[in-house]
Amino acid sequence: MPFTFSFHSLSLRTKLICYLLVTSLVSTAIVGVLAHQRLMQKFDSIVMREASRNFQTDVQLYFRAYGTWAEGMKHESFRAFTDRRRASLQSEATGAGPPPGAAPGLAPGGPPPMGRPPFGGNMPAPPFRFYLFDAEHRALFKRAPYQPGDLIRDEDLARMQPILLDGRVVAYSSSQGEVNYSDLDLGYLAAMRESLVLGTAVGMGLTLVLGLLLGNRLSHALRKLTRAVQAMGQGNLRQRVPVESQDEVGVLAQAFNRMSDEIAQQYEDLRQSHAQIETMAIQMRELSLRDALTGLHNRRHFDEQCAQFFATAQRYQRPFSVMLGDIDHFKSVNDRFSHATGDEVLRRIGQILQSSMRASDLVARYGGEEFVVAFPETDLQHAREACEALRQRVEAYPWHEVHPDLRVTISLGLSGDTQVGSFHTMLEAADALLYRAKQSGRNQVCSEVARPVAG
Ligand code: GH3
Ligand code: MG
Ligand code: MG
Repeated sequence: MPFTFSFHSLSLRTKLICYLLVTSLVSTAIVGVLAHQRLMQKFDSIVMREASRNFQTDVQLYFRAYGTWAEGMKHESFRAFTDRRRASLQSEATGAGPPPGAAPGLAPGGPPPMGRPPFGGNMPAPPFRFYLFDAEHRALFKRAPYQPGDLIRDEDLARMQPILLDGRVVAYSSSQGEVNYSDLDLGYLAAMRESLVLGTAVGMGLTLVLGLLLGNRLSHALRKLTRAVQAMGQGNLRQRVPVESQDEVGVLAQAFNRMSDEIAQQYEDLRQSHAQIETMAIQMRELSLRDALTGLHNRRHFDEQCAQFFATAQRYQRPFSVMLGDIDHFKSVNDRFSHATGDEVLRRIGQILQSSMRASDLVARYGGEEFVVAFPETDLQHAREACEALRQRVEAYPWHEVHPDLRVTISLGLSGDTQVGSFHTMLEAADALLYRAKQSGRNQVCSEVARPVAG
């Protein structure tokens, strides 16, 4: 697989180190170049100044030794004089006595000591060309474009520096050309360059270490934040990251903690209200399936459930019975004892029904003073027994507790024929049987003639 590199995929710490390294490299390179340039300029000017001073001292000593240039030239050339003087100075520096025939004027009480070369050490090599003119502006030796005795040109006059001896101008000098470094100078320069390179390397090393430490510290705090955000994304909404600083990361951590608390709290509130709504929805649904007066299931629920019971019974050829009951002369209960008494009778009939039937039977108020019971897995015979027991309980119930003169009975029609087309047809059959029970004197159970379940 080919290796693909993306800067964006690097960790924050690595990026930070890269940025710091590049920044330090560029800045140390700029500083190094500028420092080198400045160093060279300064070094050049020091070398030139020292060399000029040496030259002027040479001239002063020459004039002091011989009085005039012409007199000096009779004894020895200026070049021979300066060579001798240098040899004398070098032997002084190495501790040897002055060589034979040392330059006049170098004896005690002679001219002031020579200026030291730059940074101490040996005499500088003649760096560049010197021009020398006498007090009357005439060239003292041959140096292009001048011949001995030529007058200084006007354009060179401004550059001339007077050389004084005992407060009197004895000559004018000027220097031209490039600096010519001695071995010592070159040694100094090399040492300085090495120092610059070493400084740059140390700077870069420090940057690397600092970058690692800083990057670690910064990414450590950010890693905690990242992990907390990921945990939130996975559903653990209440997260807490330590606030270890007051900088942007610290502010971010504080804001994150606040946000996490708020979101977790809002989620908790939402979860609670959702649970409440769910409970209320269940209650509402339950209420919508119940009859308010008796607490029994209502007709709508009964119809829905019975349709399923009937379908199951038909499909699997299972026994199933349906009962329809109607309170006898209920109108006269209302009329004789009040509507409230009628309601109380309805409630108690509901309780009797509920307590008489099995948990698997479905009891409902079908409307007015009519009640229904569905008996799944129950054949006509057993259902009839249950209905008869119910009828007897209603009749035997202590109705005098409601009103001393109150008597309540119930008539029941029972159908167990699942061979009909629908559950409604079964219920119509039960209704017809109820009608027959009413016609036959009430307070009785009327059912179909039991026939064996087809199998
Ligand atoms: P039968 O024996 O033939 O069934 O006679 P009945 O009087 O019970 O029959 P009818 O249908 O004539 O009367 C039913 C009465 O039931 C009429 C109505 O006022 C009363 N009723 C229906 N619903 C309620 C109710 O919720 N509360 C009260 N108190 N009475 C109700
Ligand atoms: Mg009725
Ligand atoms: Mg009735």
